[in-house]
Amino acid sequence: MPIASINPATGETLKTFEPLDASQIEEKLARACDVFITYRKTSFSEREAWMLRAADVLEADKNSFARLMTTEMGKPISGAVSEVEKCAWVCRYYAENAKHHLADQIVETNATRSYVHFQPLGPVLAVMPWNFPFWQVFRFAAPALMAGNVGLLKHASNVPQCALAIEEIFQRAGFPEGAFQTLLIGPEAVAQLLEDKRVVAATLTGSEPAGRSVASIAGKQIKKTVLELGGSDPFIVMPSANLEEAATTGVKARTINNGQSCIAAKRFLVAADVYDEFEHRFVEAMKALRVGDPLKESTDIGPLATEQILKDVDEQVQTSVAAGAIVLTGGKRIEGEGNFYEPTVLANIPENAPAYCDEVFGPVAMLFRVANIDEAINLANATTFGLGSSAWTTDAGEQQRFIEELEAGCVFINGMVASDPRLPFGGIKHSGYGRELAEFGIREFVNVQTVWIR
Ligand code: NAP
Repeated sequence: MPIASINPATGETLKTFEPLDASQIEEKLARACDVFITYRKTSFSEREAWMLRAADVLEADKNSFARLMTTEMGKPISGAVSEVEKCAWVCRYYAENAKHHLADQIVETNATRSYVHFQPLGPVLAVMPWNFPFWQVFRFAAPALMAGNVGLLKHASNVPQCALAIEEIFQRAGFPEGAFQTLLIGPEAVAQLLEDKRVVAATLTGSEPAGRSVASIAGKQIKKTVLELGGSDPFIVMPSANLEEAATTGVKARTINNGQSCIAAKRFLVAADVYDEFEHRFVEAMKALRVGDPLKESTDIGPLATEQILKDVDEQVQTSVAAGAIVLTGGKRIEGEGNFYEPTVLANIPENAPAYCDEVFGPVAMLFRVANIDEAINLANATTFGLGSSAWTTDAGEQQRFIEELEAGCVFINGMVASDPRLPFGGIKHSGYGRELAEFGIREFVNVQTVWIR
C-alpha cells in the first residue's frame, strides 16, 4: 500500500510514496553498518560542528519546515514554528554537552587506573509518531548521533514528507552519508529490522500496542529498547491555586497540538471548594478557542491528524456520554471538509466510561470533582499510564505530597508539563521505560564500559 501524505484540513492527497522493498531496505541497512565503522571514530568536535550546522539549517528554513508539518498533520502553524526552533535547541544542547555527558568517569579502586567509558552501539532504529513529527525525531537523533551511533528512522506513515525532510537536514548539515537515514516503510516491516542483528537497539514513541509489539520482538533478540508511550496525565487544582492561571494554562495544556500530545493534561481533578469556579472559567475558555485553518496565525485548534483519529475520539466521547458523562461544551465533529472536532469538556464521568482513564487524543477535557488531596492522588494514579502530572497549589505540604505520591515520570507544580532538552523525559507504568533528553537520554544507547588497568 502506498504511503500517503494527506492534508487533514482539506482531505487533499499531497503526495504518495511506494514503501521500500526488501532490497532497498537491505541497501540502507548495509550503508548504516558501513558508515558506523568510520562514524564511531569521529571526534566530539567533528560531530559538534555537524550538529550545530543541523541547528542552523533548521533555523534558516524554519518557516518552510513548519508549513510542511502543518499541511501534513494539521498542527497550528505557530506551534509548528516553535517546534522547529526547539529542534534547533536540542541539536545545540547535545552539540555542546555530549562531550561532558560521555566523558570518562574516573573511579578510585585497587587498579592503577579505573574508569567508566562510554561507547556507541551501532545502528539504532527509531519508530516515531506523527504528532510532533520533527521534535520526536530530533530528540532521538541529536543524542544518538552525538554519541557516535547511526540512526534509522521509521516515521509514522502519515508524515513521509517530514521524514524525508529530516534526513535531508542531516545531509545538508554535513553528517557522513548514511549516518541518519529515513526508511519509508509500513509497520509490518519493523519486525524484520528488529530481528536483524545489525540493528543493535530500538526506540519507539507511540501507542501502547505498538510499544508492546516492538518491545516483545526486541526482547526475544535481547536488544535494548526505549519506549515513550501514551499518557492520561492528571492536572490537579487545589483550593490555594491561582484559579485564573490554572484554568488558562489548563486549556492550553489540554489543547496544545490540537489535543494530540502524550503529555497533554487530560484529566482535570479539581478540589470541591473551587470546582464550580474552575469549571466556569475552563469551559468559557474552551468555548473561546478558534478552530479552523491551521495555516492561519490566529487559529488555536486545527484538524485532527487523520480521519481515523477523528473517529476514535468521537467514539470515546459518544461511549462516555452513553455511560452517563455530561457534555459541558462541544461533543461532536464539525461537519464539512477536514478532520475538525469541537473543543469538548466532559464532566460527571463514570468509572466505566472510556474517558475516565483512557487516553483521549484530541481536544477533549475531562473534569472531576475531588473532595480532598487524598482523593486527588488516588484518582490521578488510577490509570495504567504514568507519563506526566501537573498540580496547582501554593501549600508546600501539598506540593511535597504530590511530588512523593504521584505515579508519573514528571511532576510540574503550578505549571504545565513540557519537555526541555536539559531535563529527562519519559514515563513509568504503561507509559513506557527509559528516558530521553538530558544526560539520561544520551546514555540510553551507549555501552557503559568499565575499564580497569593495572
Ligand atoms: P502508533 O500508531 O503507535 O504509531 C507510532 C509509530 O509506530 C508509527 O511510526 C507507526 O507506524 C508505528 N507502529 C504502529 N504499530 C506498530 C507495530 N505493531 N509495530 C511496529 N511499529 C508500529 O501511535 P500514534 O497513534 O501514531 O501516536 C500517538 C500515540 O503516541 C499516543 O498514544 C501518544 O500518547 C503517544 N506518544 C507518546 C509520546 C511520549 O513521548 N511518551 C510522544 C508522542 C506520542 P505507522 O504510522 O506506519 O502505522
